Amino acid sequence: MAKCIYVRIALFGGTFDPVHYGHLRLAEEAREAAGLERVLFVPAHTSPFRQQEPISPPRHRIDMARLATADNPAFEVSDIEIQRGGVSYTVDTVATLRALYPDDELFLILGADALQGFMHWARPDAIAHECILLVGVRPHYDLQAALEHLPDAIRARVQPVPMTPLDISARDLRQRIRAGRSIRYLTPPNVIEYIQQHRLYLEP
Ligand code: ATP
Repeated sequence: MAKCIYVRIALFGGTFDPVHYGHLRLAEEAREAAGLERVLFVPAHTSPFRQQEPISPPRHRIDMARLATADNPAFEVSDIEIQRGGVSYTVDTVATLRALYPDDELFLILGADALQGFMHWARPDAIAHECILLVGVRPHYDLQAALEHLPDAIRARVQPVPMTPLDISARDLRQRIRAGRSIRYLTPPNVIEYIQQHRLYLEP
C-alpha cells in the first residue's frame, strides 16, 4: 500500500493593503510552530467587514504580497478570492482548498483581533471543523479574552502561536505614507519600492 504523505497547509487571509512585517512574522512563526509546509497568503477581493472602505486594486495587493514572500520557499500567494470576486468569505475559500487538498491538514492563520470577531464570520463552525486556527498575539488585543468568548468546540481548535508582538498595521502604514513619513523597517524594501513606483496611498 502506498504511504500517504500529509501536507500541512495554512490559509492566511487578509486585505494586505499593504502587506507588512506583522503579517510576515505571524506567518513565519505559525509555519514554525505548526510545522507547516505551505502558507498561502490569500488577499481578499472584498472583506465582508470593510465593504464601504476604499481598498487598493487587487493587482497591487497581490503584487506586493508576491514581492514580500518571494524569498520564503514555504510562502505562496493565491489569487483564489480575487478570481472568485465579490465579497470574500473564508468558509468558501476553505471549501475550495478542501476540495483541492482532500487528504491534507488545513490550518487558518489569524491575529488576535481577527479571532475576537471570529464568531461574526460566515459559518465559523464549518471553518473550525476543517481548520486548526493558528492565532498570533497582537498589541492592544486580548487573546485570552477572545478565547474565553468562544464556544468550547471552536476554542478546542485554537492553537496559539507564540510570537513577538509587533505593533504594525496596514492602516498605520497608509497614514504614514499620506503624511509623507517613512515606512522603512515596517515592510520589506521591495514593497516600499513598489508603493513608491505606483504612488500608492497618497490619497485618502
Ligand atoms: P488594517 O490596518 O488595514 O486593518 P491589518 O494590518 O490589520 O490591516 P489585515 O490584512 O487586515 O492587516 O490582516 C490580515 C491578518 O493578519 C488578520 O488575521 C490580522 O489579525 C493579522 N495581522 C495583521 N497585522 C498583524 C500584527 N501586527 N500582528 C499579528 N497579526 C496581525
